[in-house]
Amino acid sequence: MSISSVSGDLDAWRGLPALQQPEWDDPDEVRVVAAELAKQPPLVFAGECDQLKAQLADVARGEAFVLQGGDCAETFEGSNADAVKNKLKTLLQMAVVLTYAASVPVVKIGRMAGQFAKPRSKPVEVRGGVELPAYRGDAVNGLDFDASSRRNDPHRLLKAYHCSAVTLNLCRAFTKGGYADLRQVHAWNQDFVAQSPAGRRYEQVAGEIDRALTFMKACGVNPEEFHGVEFYSSHEALLLDYERALTRIDHLSGLPYDVSAHFLWIGERTRQLDGAHVEFLRHIRNPIGVKLGPGTSADDALALIDRLNPEGEPGRLTFITRMGAGKVRDVLPSLVEKVHRSGAPVAWICDPMHGNTFEAPSGHKTRRLDDVLDELAGFFEVHRALGTHPGGIHIEFTGDDVTECVGGGHGLVEDDLHQRYETACDPRLNRGQSLDLAFMVAELYRK
Ligand code: PEP
Ligand code: MN
Repeated sequence: MSISSVSGDLDAWRGLPALQQPEWDDPDEVRVVAAELAKQPPLVFAGECDQLKAQLADVARGEAFVLQGGDCAETFEGSNADAVKNKLKTLLQMAVVLTYAASVPVVKIGRMAGQFAKPRSKPVEVRGGVELPAYRGDAVNGLDFDASSRRNDPHRLLKAYHCSAVTLNLCRAFTKGGYADLRQVHAWNQDFVAQSPAGRRYEQVAGEIDRALTFMKACGVNPEEFHGVEFYSSHEALLLDYERALTRIDHLSGLPYDVSAHFLWIGERTRQLDGAHVEFLRHIRNPIGVKLGPGTSADDALALIDRLNPEGEPGRLTFITRMGAGKVRDVLPSLVEKVHRSGAPVAWICDPMHGNTFEAPSGHKTRRLDDVLDELAGFFEVHRALGTHPGGIHIEFTGDDVTECVGGGHGLVEDDLHQRYETACDPRLNRGQSLDLAFMVAELYRK
């Protein structure tokens, strides 16, 4: 295939309906910003994307488990060392619990270093009689509720790129520079152990790992894998001008990769078969995901496979199901069964967050940890009954002790939500709730 035909494919989405794109005041400004983005260095490399694809192929085969998570919406302000370190620390602790307690290799993917754009159910927000454009993520406009902040500003796309670079650089340093060394399992927990039931439970696991490491070292076993982890970045591929500008032809293979992140997914609201998002992601060679909500039919899923992975490349396509605790046991079985019968190699991941959001009497958008865990339990039950592999989890969490979801070891209730409600979009699990969830998933996996 010639490079020019590859580029033609990469721009075919422009002629199709693209939902959830911001209305920019000046299209010329967007073109100037896209040209600037196109000159920037890649954030990730094709070889790394291929490596993740191979690991996701292991997941599809039932030999590994995905832990994908981070903020609903990252913010520019949150692209700092402390916030990133806290998220990574929590992700590493969850991964340790899963690896140790479930005895399965864990593929670690952050919803980090690029999760700056949000689809919205309404284009406007009304507060106290004032109507303004909805917040669409820091890549588009600001969260503050005033007209100048809510103006869609294409220059924010460049800032999103730079914040992604800063965040990914921190992640690479933390995961390769000694901090993620397994001998640090206690250190990650030091600030947490005294304050939290989940932290104390984790401390026990860490103690067992420590003894195992000491034993192995005494036997002369001290492999490289103990000293760092592979970490991958991901976000929803929503803003197509941004994703297109960061797509490059890999000089080794001659194939296009979206170098804004290792893994990209299409959201529940933009997965139309004849829409621009499916068309664009069809042509990039990264591993990709599609969110599937409770309205998805098996035929929809099969048609998505046909469009996005017609050659059945293992690891290429992940389905992230987000059905809701009340529906997962009813709607997931026929979907999984028919896809499984088609023979397509799909990795199945459960997003137990987006089908379980409700509004508390105080007006805060929240989620119950019990609903989240119940959807996860349902996901495992369905896959176990069908003999398919429950391949992973996709969650919204933060490393800070926020009060955005209810339940968990500290017994957070709806009246507590106002205390530290800091999310820019959907409610996230805090560190203790995330660890509680990891222990529960490890138990489900072992069963
Ligand atoms: C999200 O992941 O934040 C999101 C909007 O999810 P979904 O596309 O599943 O609604
Ligand atoms: Mn969300």
